[in-house]
Amino acid sequence: MLTKDCIFCKIIRGELPSYKLYEDAHALAILDINPITRGHTLLLSKSHYETTKDTPVEVLTALTQASYPVIKAVLAAVKAEGYNILINNHKSAGQQIPHLHWHIIPRHFNDNIHFHWTPTPCQKDEMEKIAEAIRKHINA
Ligand code: AMP
Ligand code: ZN
Repeated sequence: MLTKDCIFCKIIRGELPSYKLYEDAHALAILDINPITRGHTLLLSKSHYETTKDTPVEVLTALTQASYPVIKAVLAAVKAEGYNILINNHKSAGQQIPHLHWHIIPRHFNDNIHFHWTPTPCQKDEMEKIAEAIRKHINA
């Protein structure tokens, strides 16, 4: 995707409106336009990288740094008892906008939000095989 067509790049350049919460040299935090809970925030990298693995470690470090004041403020503003941080990477994982962003989702007891993970049992030999395959790629 060209950055000129990217919704988040347009927001960063000020070509589209947003509810800006925080900004520094590397990060921009805005309200998600379609919030899962009140205060649902998106923390964007200011430069266009598609997913986490494409992003230089310096940028990830800068996002992590920016997340501290943002998380603190979001939780205080909506009096949340917890929060989820979610990063969708690629379409198969639910990523709609291919520009790196963290979802910061404030949570309350009994908010009735359920992330549906459906674990499937995995036998020991299959676990061993998968672990070995991953280790090989890490060492490659
Ligand atoms: P993802 O599926 O992880 O790519 O998430 C994209 C998120 O961006 C969704 O939660 C959308 O609600 C949100 N979104 C889309 N357009 C805008 C926009 N113009 N301003 C703020 N949030 C947006
Ligand atoms: Zn972009």
